[in-house]
Amino acid sequence: MIPGMTQTAPGTVPAPAPLERVTHWIDGKPFAGVTERTAPVYDPALGAVRTEVPLASVDEVDQAVASAAAAFASWRTSSLTRRTQVLFAFRELVNQHKQELAELITAEHGKVVSDALGEVTRGLEVVEFACGIPHLLKGGYSEGVSTNVDVYSIRQPVGVCAVISPFNFPVMVPMWFVPIAIAAGNTVVLKPSEKDPSASLLVARLWEQAGLPAGVFNVVHGDKVAVDRLLEHPEVKAVSFVGSTPIARYVYETGTRNGKRVQALGGAKNHMVVLPDADLDLAADAAVNAGFGSAGERCMAISALVVVEPVADDLVARIRERIATLKVGDGRRSCDMGPLVTREHRDRVASYLDAGVGAGAELVVDGREVRVDGDESGFWLGPSLLDRVSPEMSVYTDEIFGPVLSVVRVGSYDEALALVNSNRYGNGTAIFTNDGGAARRFQNEVEVGMVGVNVPIPVPMAYYSFGGWKDSLFGDSHAHGAEGVHFFTRGKVVTSRWLDPSHGGINLGFPENV
Ligand code: NAD
Repeated sequence: MIPGMTQTAPGTVPAPAPLERVTHWIDGKPFAGVTERTAPVYDPALGAVRTEVPLASVDEVDQAVASAAAAFASWRTSSLTRRTQVLFAFRELVNQHKQELAELITAEHGKVVSDALGEVTRGLEVVEFACGIPHLLKGGYSEGVSTNVDVYSIRQPVGVCAVISPFNFPVMVPMWFVPIAIAAGNTVVLKPSEKDPSASLLVARLWEQAGLPAGVFNVVHGDKVAVDRLLEHPEVKAVSFVGSTPIARYVYETGTRNGKRVQALGGAKNHMVVLPDADLDLAADAAVNAGFGSAGERCMAISALVVVEPVADDLVARIRERIATLKVGDGRRSCDMGPLVTREHRDRVASYLDAGVGAGAELVVDGREVRVDGDESGFWLGPSLLDRVSPEMSVYTDEIFGPVLSVVRVGSYDEALALVNSNRYGNGTAIFTNDGGAARRFQNEVEVGMVGVNVPIPVPMAYYSFGGWKDSLFGDSHAHGAEGVHFFTRGKVVTSRWLDPSHGGINLGFPENV
């Protein structure tokens, strides 16, 4: 038992026992590492340290990259049949272990177990997509482009790929990239968030059980030291990053300067526009679900509710009623919403409530007053609702990443659209209306990468691509779907001629097709 750890009353799922120190996973086995640098990992519902995670040194990152580089030589030539078999086996194993994975996520992230299960399920969709890799890698073939000449295109893996992920989806976000990278014949070094590192170790074991050769999937834990080494290591050919906008920009600029292809997904400020003709019960349900699910720690969470008058009073009243029914507490009990990830983050989010009131907003529901079904030391902040927020307030301009929903009242559709389009972020957005023409106009005019029509969290299926616009994504490729396959492969075009060499002849002119 780790000193200072408190036990809560029994819930629907017991808190997992505290772990030994988390290890890296290099060359198909756990690797404790020699570094003296570690970071605490909390159980946010208990407010106590659960375990600690090693922070890799440059040398340890190099060992992981060396393992991945060595494994690439044979994995890239393994047959599509073999790779697909590993993918299918991995899919079965993740499915069998999804409850265990969800409980690990809850223990370190804090989201309720049902939400964590949803995260694993959405990650599995990408694994299932990657099982179709033989189809996804098919190239084109043109017979007889010139006399006895054929042309065909193939796509080949890029090499060692680094995946750097955020705390809020410790299983799903790595799965946006890793299964496709591996299916396409690459090898991977994953650097998960140091805040909730344990699930990635279970995933590594499942890859191993699925028959993935040692070195194809590696995990190094760490902070900026590890990330910087991955960004400069000459053997790393591609970097997939997800996290906050300042770090995403840094990763993109540094990685591309070092000659790597980079997709860096950043932060968000997602607007939900409600037109006066919308079904207000549907809109209120959606605003509560998308604003407070996972305690607002989702890059697709709704944080700005843009209401076109005259329905704002009515909608705010309906949202307030619904918030009163939400149960906040330990994610292992049957609660709707868990704690925030760390005390520091909880305090930062809570500070926006005073900032909003100080700037003139109306605090309709104050999450600091919430009654909690959980340990009093947990990092709690209940759902909070601010009304009459205006665009210059920090509560509107900043990505808060917590359970704070801001209502901005506007007079027209055009005003709502201008607000969304002038925002620096462009990850997700939604419009609620019964007017098909208005919805159609919105999906055409809005400058955002993922759009919902009466759907508040429009996360695309795995066979479409996930990604935002503007400061929500740096690079040209979104995650998974066709763009994901493209990112993890390089195109090659072969022009071939098969005939008797005596039909050749000297001609120094530029090749023409005849
Ligand atoms: P973060 O940017 O703090 O960390 C992300 C990763 O970067 C972690 O692995 C972390 O160890 C590493 N990192 C942190 N500081 C670094 C530094 N100075 N140099 C190099 N690496 C560094 O993000 P977070 O707090 O873990 O996650 C929340 C953020 O992620 C939010 O902004 C959220 O919107 C964003 N997010 C975006 C998407 C998306 O699809 N656009 C999805 C999930 C989360």
